[in-house]
Amino acid sequence: MILFFQFDIPADIALFGGDHLLIFQCPEHNDAVVAQGAPEQLPPRFWDTPPPLYTAPGAFWRIMLHRDDTSPAPDSDEYLRPQRLDFRPATEQVAIWWPGNVLSDGEDLDSAFADHGIGLPGFKIGGVPSWAQDRESYTCPCGNDLVYVCQVPTDTGFDKQHDRPEQLDTFRSGQYGLFLGNETYVLACPAHCHPAAAWPVNQN
Ligand SMILES: [Zn+2]
Ligand SMILES: [Zn+2]
Repeated sequence: MILFFQFDIPADIALFGGDHLLIFQCPEHNDAVVAQGAPEQLPPRFWDTPPPLYTAPGAFWRIMLHRDDTSPAPDSDEYLRPQRLDFRPATEQVAIWWPGNVLSDGEDLDSAFADHGIGLPGFKIGGVPSWAQDRESYTCPCGNDLVYVCQVPTDTGFDKQHDRPEQLDTFRSGQYGLFLGNETYVLACPAHCHPAAAWPVNQN
């Protein structure tokens, strides 16, 4: 699989600070990860064998989230040109799209923002996801609710190595993308019950 990106999660991110996150996708399969059919309670052994899609015989992606003491690999990825990923601290801004509907429920403002607020779009770790559609939530096989970790915006492209073919169904020539370029929200198990206990929710 192609390593698309990796980063150390800053220490001030709740539950996942200090973890290392890596996102992989198969060079020959490119699709959205559709949660339809995945129950909100994910079944036992879900992280060992994430569900296949009709376009791929098995899971064509993998997200690793761990805090083991490992060292960098000596070689860069064979498909993508290595780039440095720098994050800087930012302030989240949370908004409610349809405040009339929410507040007419009689909900107080704090819980209305907690239940319905969406954050700023962008490539970001932590904060509040900027859901493009309804929020989605899943429960890990271990019983914990998955928690949002990071967001990758629509059509985030990664420059390919010159000697590699164009990605299947790419949105931009010369670049590979994750999940057909869909907005991606990574949700992960706060108990770290499995090194791959992270699920890419796609929306557009
Ligand atoms: Zn494949
Ligand atoms: Zn779990």
